[in-house]
Amino acid sequence: MEKIKMTTPLVEMDGDEMTRILWKLIKEELLLPFVDLKTEYYDLGLNYRNETNDQVTFDSAEATKKYGVAVKCATITPNAARMPEYNLKEMWKSPNGTIRAILDGTVFRAPIIVKGIEPYVKNWTKPITIARHAYGDVYKGTEMKIPAAGKAELVYTDTNGTETREMIHEFDGPGIIQGMHNLNNSIESFARSCFNFALDTKQDLWFATKDTISKKYDHTFKDIFADIYEAEYKEKFEMAGIEYFYTLIDDAVARVMRSEGGYIWACKNYDGDVMSDMVATAFGSLSMMTSLLASPKGYYEYEAAHGTVQRHYYKYLKGEETSTNPIATIFAWTGALRKRGELDNLPDLMTFADKLEKACIDTIENGEMTGDLYLISTLENKKKLNTEEFILAIRKTLEGLL
Ligand code: NAP
Ligand code: MG
Repeated sequence: MEKIKMTTPLVEMDGDEMTRILWKLIKEELLLPFVDLKTEYYDLGLNYRNETNDQVTFDSAEATKKYGVAVKCATITPNAARMPEYNLKEMWKSPNGTIRAILDGTVFRAPIIVKGIEPYVKNWTKPITIARHAYGDVYKGTEMKIPAAGKAELVYTDTNGTETREMIHEFDGPGIIQGMHNLNNSIESFARSCFNFALDTKQDLWFATKDTISKKYDHTFKDIFADIYEAEYKEKFEMAGIEYFYTLIDDAVARVMRSEGGYIWACKNYDGDVMSDMVATAFGSLSMMTSLLASPKGYYEYEAAHGTVQRHYYKYLKGEETSTNPIATIFAWTGALRKRGELDNLPDLMTFADKLEKACIDTIENGEMTGDLYLISTLENKKKLNTEEFILAIRKTLEGLL
């Protein structure tokens, strides 16, 4: 068979620990035999980040701006324990945070659904994609403990020195206060990323806040979404046959539980933090969750939602058998290849991505799976495979489909 051609390289961001092992296996067994793979390689493994004073992370984000599409392996965000383990010069920042700041993107997380892994919410038959605003609110808040009676106010001083004041509370005893902010710019980027992604994936977009109570703060989110929708997206949505829908956050939660899924749920920062863990858990497994960073300017970075699976890596280093699930990482590759195919008009590449995804799902639905899925699958004839065996099983299914 002739290999499938690519024209523009993907930005390839390699990573750490067990996912770095998976990365190599996926390339060797599932990509290189079939695709004339073109990538521009950036090693985001912690050793090389340390060696380059994290420059490689910045370079990889800039390359994503140049080429438009990146695929990223999970990476270690260093903590105190990693300092001696990797002999680090500094406690380097989270690569995901650095890349997100440069691309100004929103993170979209969606579950991969397979027969036998039943969601806890029985009517969720289609994926629910959570889009979490990644800037501000309580995550950039300032807080104060009020020790005793006194007056607390919000004060804004403009560049001319003019003050505007708003009473928070006249305390007659101890209490607490919190100040937080957001930026219209950031909310606008968030809105555009969500509208673009809805168009890209032909799914409805839901957005919810508490604007009835928060008449200025949350209401501004609602207004910005509505204005951008009316001015830039309404016609496109109508043409695509999809809907933008705003409601109150408590109403949204109730509707989500009753729904069958199949839409994007845009959430403010805190709501997204909480709801993404709920949705991910209800769908069954973090190892079956993909993550996409999409920028309002049309840059895409695909990855798995889970981390580097450290515990499995230490077993691997000791020569023990592992059974690590590669599905989310494979879907990061297929997402990136499909997007590359779409941008470069390469239908064969897009078909290959579809078939590789189908091979993953068919393999699991035929009863061959890794340990994490084996524990929760309701299939009767299921078999637990180790890391390499499972990837080879997917390859066999894929060869049958090509
Ligand atoms: P993790 O890598 O997500 O793993 C947590 C646990 O979840 C694992 O120990 C494993 O459970 C299970 N698990 C996750 N992915 C799995 C898979 N593909 N197959 C099978 N089981 C899977 O989180 P962590 O161990 O807390 O973090 C490890 C490192 O990842 C940290 O250094 C962190 O900074 C980094 N991290 C990176 C990203 C990213 O790059 N996007 C995201 C999160 C965390 P069992 O051990 O019970 O089998
Ligand atoms: Mg959380």
